[in-house]
Amino acid sequence: MTQVQQSQPNCIFCRIVAGQIPSKKAYEDEHIYVFHDIHPWAPVHLLLIPKLHIPSMAQVGPEHAGLLGRMMALVPGLAEQHGCRPYPEGGFRLVCNTGADGGQEVHHLHMHLIGGPRPWLKG
Ligand code: 5GP
Ligand code: ZN
Repeated sequence: MTQVQQSQPNCIFCRIVAGQIPSKKAYEDEHIYVFHDIHPWAPVHLLLIPKLHIPSMAQVGPEHAGLLGRMMALVPGLAEQHGCRPYPEGGFRLVCNTGADGGQEVHHLHMHLIGGPRPWLKG
């Protein structure tokens, strides 16, 4: 398993950040990229990723606190803009699958932002 690096040539999410694989962008800044999941489970299903190739939450350390804090702080605004209904009747789910036991399929840290009116396909 590769560790933290600027970019990993075989990583599908690094290739999305580089524009080598098309994606439907929802937000971008210097360090963060947000796009629509290709197989949404719910009316709103975004993936928030750092541009830095961090394989999973298991490699996160204190040096990433600012980056992860900024990612989390984007969530309420993205949820509202993309159709999650207001809290508490509405709301959303934030999921970070980590490793095989956590059900992680793509090994580039990502948070799923899932919401919108139910029913959902999963969850
Ligand atoms: P995981 O199971 O690793 O937490 O979730 C990976 C997510 O990435 C899945 O929900 C899957 O649909 C999504 N995904 C995988 N490949 C692509 C892709 O090429 N483009 C987009 N937009 N989403 C992808
Ligand atoms: Zn990557």
